[in-house]
Amino acid sequence: MTHLVNIPSPPRRCENFGAGTFTPPSSGAYLPVHSPYTGEQIGEVALSNTADVDGVVQGAHAAFPAWRATNLSRRAEVMFRMRELVDANRKEIASVLSKEHGKVLGDALGEVARGLENIEFACGIPNLLKGGYSEQASSGVDVYSIKQPLGVVAGITPFNFPAMVPMWMFANALACGNTFVLKPSEKDPSASMMIAELLKQAGLPDGTFNIVHGDKVAVDRLLVHPDIQAISFVGSTPIARYIYETGTKNGKRVQALGGAKNHMLVLADADLDMAADAAVSAAYGSAGERCMAISVVLASEAIADDLVAKIKDRIPAIKVGPASDPGNEMGPLITGEHRDKVKGYVAGAAGEGATVVVDGTTDVPAGGFFLKPSLIDKATPGMKCYDDEIFGPVLTVTRVKGYDDGLALINSNQFGNGTAIFTRDGGAARQFEFDVQVGMVGVNVPIPVPVSYYSFGGWKASLFGDTHMYGPEGVNFYTRTKVVTSRWPDPRTSTVDLGFPQNR
Ligand code: NAD
Repeated sequence: MTHLVNIPSPPRRCENFGAGTFTPPSSGAYLPVHSPYTGEQIGEVALSNTADVDGVVQGAHAAFPAWRATNLSRRAEVMFRMRELVDANRKEIASVLSKEHGKVLGDALGEVARGLENIEFACGIPNLLKGGYSEQASSGVDVYSIKQPLGVVAGITPFNFPAMVPMWMFANALACGNTFVLKPSEKDPSASMMIAELLKQAGLPDGTFNIVHGDKVAVDRLLVHPDIQAISFVGSTPIARYIYETGTKNGKRVQALGGAKNHMLVLADADLDMAADAAVSAAYGSAGERCMAISVVLASEAIADDLVAKIKDRIPAIKVGPASDPGNEMGPLITGEHRDKVKGYVAGAAGEGATVVVDGTTDVPAGGFFLKPSLIDKATPGMKCYDDEIFGPVLTVTRVKGYDDGLALINSNQFGNGTAIFTRDGGAARQFEFDVQVGMVGVNVPIPVPVSYYSFGGWKASLFGDTHMYGPEGVNFYTRTKVVTSRWPDPRTSTVDLGFPQNR
């Protein structure tokens, strides 16, 4: 299988991709891309204006009729080829992710693997687009439903999963027969360039997958462009709300996934070593820059001291440093500004009345945007370190009496993305699944990201819109249903009847 040959590692210049070619922005303006390991500029990314967006969307619009008419076997074949190409280039993609985002190589490979699942799912598109058929709904009348693509659809993606989140979107969107415009995060745009190259190699027709780089200006044009039919967004809650409100006001179908504050409830009967391992892995993996990271442990009073001690014991063993050393487990944060914001939460915690058990903001690796893991105990609602999405390697512990107390905190939180319960009590776990107001639930599983044949999405301020992302709900999002009621000429059933059609 073909390996990418013409993808330079950063530093590189990321141009827009439309009609099958990489093109500079008409303004000639670029934004710098920085290394999270050193702070140095390692590349640049096109800063598109409205005219650039219009040009790319025009190409996608022109490509739609032919792609939509392409038969299902052929669309599936492109996805099968893309599956093979991404599989063959896992290391190259992961290495670019690592350089621009800062996640260590093992974590970056995990991102590619979880993204690839979505391309595999889309390979089954002939089956997924089957409609229903009812023979003889009335005498000589058959009724059936068909799923048709929407047209040009756009995806706007965050910095923390620069390969996986675009794969959540474009795989189903394209397989369903839409053409797609991606607006990647301007902080780590190179993975999207590799995706464009690979889709071209997979035989996807020009204009079918497109990229427009940039910032708010590009996003705002996509939100009002008359030829964009639907928008998938993943990012922070304030922007998700804005995308949903603006997109729907302009007549578009929108799914906008926002931020999170994922609580892990540990009951007194839990296996505490397993719970401590899970909390540490899920809080500090990818430096806490995951929307499914565990950021709050709700520790039942009876075991809280033990659990905090076990988490604290595990922290010194976590190796923080650049991904170039394969022994490192946690890399830097994405920008200096974000690192400073995260530091501020740890610095302010004691003044708010919490206890800083481990302060990971000092003695960090030199250069770049590194922090070590921090652990804050006795955080409570009303404290900034509890209320806000920190999105860094900071785990807070809130002590609760038990199940009811813990559940009440989770259900009163503004976010509802992911959650987990740690217990040996099957009845309590089942009750938790029933009661909890969160979209994705783990039972002794700390990061319950659904496999690609289910769908991903939170509740409350973690999702604006009605449809979760990828899987069956993704197919629904990228198609609209038409129902056909059909009768073939038969003189025996032909009469004049002015009454409303009925079959009894
Ligand atoms: P972000 O909201 O800053 O940016 C996301 C996208 O929106 C980027 O492409 C960016 O260019 C664009 N954007 C930013 N500001 C904009 C504005 N004012 N107007 C229009 N567009 C704008 O998010 P981020 O910092 O890249 O990513 C981190 C956030 O994403 C966290 O809050 C995290 O929880 C969330 N996230 C959520 C999920 C999920 O599935 N729910 C998954 C990953 C990340």
